[in-house]
Amino acid sequence: MEHKLPELPWAQDALEPHISAETLSYHYGKHHNAYVTKLNAAIPGTEFAEMSLEDIVMKSEGGVFNNAAQVWNHTFYWNCLAPKTGGPATGAIAEKINAKWGSFDKFQEEFTNTAATNFGSAWTWLVENNGELEIFNTSNADTPMKHGRKALMTIDVWEHAYYVDYRNARPDYIKAFWALVNWDFVNSNL
Ligand code: MN
Repeated sequence: MEHKLPELPWAQDALEPHISAETLSYHYGKHHNAYVTKLNAAIPGTEFAEMSLEDIVMKSEGGVFNNAAQVWNHTFYWNCLAPKTGGPATGAIAEKINAKWGSFDKFQEEFTNTAATNFGSAWTWLVENNGELEIFNTSNADTPMKHGRKALMTIDVWEHAYYVDYRNARPDYIKAFWALVNWDFVNSNL
């Protein structure tokens, strides 16, 4: 089964000025696309050939896992973003965040600090773990489903996500992320 690079849910320049079309031309057009291409090259003739993407993520290790998980992680990340969104959480997730952290500001501060200090090429997630909200860090391609957790929201903190727009200033990129969070999508993952 051939895995496809999904369409972006918005135009490539729609997230400006927070994330530029140039960043997306590399991050989506080159990096995400390369994970799809490498996955498709790796699986023919293996036990993974006809599996769904999520099954491959759950059952593989090594290079196949890295590419499959990165395909999944990036598609999930694009869906977490949308133009003209951002601001405090809305809907059911807002209530759960308030119940866990006391306020959206407190959650935002803790998520921001966790993402800013997540060492190296990594992802920071809001997840559900046995019904409880949790901020969860992964490294490289690693992904919450591999740890029995359900992804609700993520920020990609690999340098390729922000180097074009913010150089090495990850905190500036995290600030921009908050202007783009698609709370409707986050709610749809509950
Ligand atoms: Mn990335």
